[in-house]
Amino acid sequence: MININLWDHNDNIAKAGKPVDKSEWMLSPQTINAYNNSTNNEIVFPAAILQPPFFNPDADDAINYGAIISVIGHEMTHGFDDNGAQYDGKGNLSNWWAPEDAKNFAALGDRLKAYFNAIEVTKGFHIDGKLTVGENIADLGGLTLGYYALVKSLEGKKAPEPIDGFTWKQRFFLGWAQVWHENMTNESLINQVQTNEHSPARWRINATLAQMKEFSEAFGCATGKMAVGDADRIVIW
Ligand SMILES: [Zn+2]
Repeated sequence: MININLWDHNDNIAKAGKPVDKSEWMLSPQTINAYNNSTNNEIVFPAAILQPPFFNPDADDAINYGAIISVIGHEMTHGFDDNGAQYDGKGNLSNWWAPEDAKNFAALGDRLKAYFNAIEVTKGFHIDGKLTVGENIADLGGLTLGYYALVKSLEGKKAPEPIDGFTWKQRFFLGWAQVWHENMTNESLINQVQTNEHSPARWRINATLAQMKEFSEAFGCATGKMAVGDADRIVIW
């Protein structure tokens, strides 16, 4: 690992002063991940992410819109999260916001930080709202984009039938849950909330979905753990 880091460092240093190679990818084709690179104003999806549970050619549209389409929406939204929003369309660090918009955006971000700060994942450990705010904005925005892309794709068509007792609206959210759910030790969970900018899987799913009125409508949730009330709902994008 030391040698890899050393190679990577030298490779980066060698780029100094040379033209930017905009065709370069930061991930290999076989890596299951994706990213938004603000300085290139691009989103990148290696081939390997286009397989279940992210994309399943045998699943119905609702599942895939809740999965890969919302993940694509997540990466798009990173261009407009607390960090990406500081870059303009050319990938330069410059403030293109109207002052009032920037103020409102920051206030909504602060509310989202407070919402996640309040979540205790295990005794004595909370999600770090500040550390995770960019990812949480991207999850909320990505799911909203994915959901309304699905609604648009169904315009003028007959609503899809339930499958295994789940409506298409419910299957959309199951697609999201299938992407992120995982088993985790308590030690790993404690490590994650202190070091990782992503909220742990359970809350990446549940805490984000509880913010969406589309979710509480789909599953008929009363206001509570899985559905915040109207006054507590945070809509950013
Ligand atoms: Zn992200």
